[in-house]
Amino acid sequence: MKKLFLSLLIFILLAFLSASVLLAQNRICANCGKTITKNFLEYNSQPYCSQKCFEAALPKCSVCGKSVGEGTKQGEFLKHNGKIFCSDKCFERSLPKCAACGKPAKKQIRSTDDASKAYCSQECYQTSLPKCELCQKSLNGWKEMAGHIYCNDCAALPKCLDCRLPGASIELPDGRHICQTCEKTAVISRDQAQRLFEQVRGDIEKHLGLTTDHRITFQLVDARELGRITGVTVFSEQGLYSHKWKTYQTAKTKVPDSDTFVIYILSHLTPKYFYNIAAHELAHDIHDALYPNAKGKELEEGFAEYISSLMNAYWGNDSLNLEKLHNQEKIYAQGYQKFLKIAEKNGLSDVLAYMEKQNQTSKSKAIKKKTK
Ligand SMILES: [Zn+2]
Ligand SMILES: [Zn+2]
Ligand SMILES: [Zn+2]
Ligand SMILES: [Zn+2]
Ligand SMILES: [Zn+2]
Ligand SMILES: [Zn+2]
Repeated sequence: MKKLFLSLLIFILLAFLSASVLLAQNRICANCGKTITKNFLEYNSQPYCSQKCFEAALPKCSVCGKSVGEGTKQGEFLKHNGKIFCSDKCFERSLPKCAACGKPAKKQIRSTDDASKAYCSQECYQTSLPKCELCQKSLNGWKEMAGHIYCNDCAALPKCLDCRLPGASIELPDGRHICQTCEKTAVISRDQAQRLFEQVRGDIEKHLGLTTDHRITFQLVDARELGRITGVTVFSEQGLYSHKWKTYQTAKTKVPDSDTFVIYILSHLTPKYFYNIAAHELAHDIHDALYPNAKGKELEEGFAEYISSLMNAYWGNDSLNLEKLHNQEKIYAQGYQKFLKIAEKNGLSDVLAYMEKQNQTSKSKAIKKKTK
């Protein structure tokens, strides 16, 4: 009996001890904070009281929001750029759409000029590249001409004498090339050219009040003829103004009324280029008549470019004036810019006053020279 009592006492003692141990080990749910008395789940060494609390602690798919790794202890998931995805499907949904085919762009190939666009493959990226206007090849690098783009090979093809674009397929007997588009309206017949020339002369008089009483002969020529007349093979002008006169052999003085005036303009120009050139050459004639003493290549070409630019604007062909600023023959571009500056405030009237001043100072210099 005594023995039984003792063992009972030991049992009670043990039971009490173990209860206090259990109590000391009581866990707190890492999610809801409740004391865990029964079974618990563990995740990242933290206890959770229920499936619900456990799931709340799991990482969430950044696309669908679902807890990742449901039912498993250490959730399995995809990680990409610090984001978590529950499945391939959700990962793909997170990708930008290929700008070409619309499929998720896993590779995300970016175009260099628009980084907001992504492409799924090299093939799709290729479709985004600009194409050569002539051969349709996709271009990684290209040459741009007047807003058109070409591959290097096509850019080197013969250029149209009018629009200056490469790939002009028609070769003229004088070696120049013209494209099929420009050829349709190109001024080829002498009659049409003569008519347009008269019209330009009339327009200049009407619009600018500038004219001369010179009897000008007009000639439509090809590049070979113009080269023969000027003796220059690489010629920056597409026309020529010529004023010749006879001189007495003995006295070396001018034969009165022996002047001849000829303006040559190249054939196959489209009307707007023809107008531009005709106005330029007629400006040389105006210069010659009104300011004969004002000399110098920059002054002469600058004045002619300025007058023709006013006429281009009048005809609605302003784009040609932009080309004048970029004339490869520097003296033309410089001269034109010089006159644009002179005209800054009062336009043509300041230009004519400037020309008159040049004419007077050159004249007085010439007289001084003679009297010395
Ligand atoms: Zn809990
Ligand atoms: Zn998901
Ligand atoms: Zn694609
Ligand atoms: Zn090409
Ligand atoms: Zn053309
Ligand atoms: Zn000129």
